[in-house]
Amino acid sequence: MSVIRQNLQAVRQRITDAADSAQRDVHGIDLLVVSKTFNADAVIAAAEAGQAAFGENYLQEALDKINTIHATRPDLALEWHFIGPIQSNKTRPIAEHFDWVHSVDREKIAQRLSEQRPAELPPLNICLQVNISGEASKSGVLPADALAVAKAISALPRLRLRGLMAIPEAEGDEAQQRAPFRQLHALFDQLRAAGLQLDTLSMGMSADMTAAIAEGATIVRIGSAIFGTREYAK
Ligand SMILES: *Cc1c(COP(=O)(O)O)cnc(C)c1O
Repeated sequence: MSVIRQNLQAVRQRITDAADSAQRDVHGIDLLVVSKTFNADAVIAAAEAGQAAFGENYLQEALDKINTIHATRPDLALEWHFIGPIQSNKTRPIAEHFDWVHSVDREKIAQRLSEQRPAELPPLNICLQVNISGEASKSGVLPADALAVAKAISALPRLRLRGLMAIPEAEGDEAQQRAPFRQLHALFDQLRAAGLQLDTLSMGMSADMTAAIAEGATIVRIGSAIFGTREYAK
């Protein structure tokens, strides 16, 4: 059995265990496999092990990979999620080639994605990225601005606002790690109470998925636990 297949099984088991301890239905938690820096063959190996949803951070790398897989393995029906920082002049290929975008953090980007989403495709699924740990260096809207931006996004015709995404700072222990995820969940509840129809909390990576699931994650984004350590040879 390939290492990728083995790691995928182990991660799925970790998700099941975390759901059990949180007394949650595991079917409410989707695994997004983050394939940035790993090649098309790695994605294909994961797809052959039953994984359909993949996340990418770097646009050119992602487009090359999507095209390669499309050309060599048209039998694989994959779902692509863009999860990296977005430059406003690069929105068109994102609108054309992805099913989801988790890293929308301002209205201008959302407007462009809506305008550029091809008419023959379904609306683009969107998560609003929130700067939940208050880190100046990180992208994401401030929690105080989230409602206004979310309302603006939900009015755009070619987008479907699904929920919130965050990348909290790493914390020393499980209890501390859970705090920012709990804050994101509270913000999500607040937006729903204000009338927004949201169903997605995109939170949790290889190191903190257990804490995120305990606090209500509906999508965990997992890379290194499946493909191994990344090397940024750019
Ligand atoms: C790289 C990345 C991940 C996956 O991180 P791992 O620690 O490899 O699981 C998840 N989300 C985002 C936004 C990322 O950039």
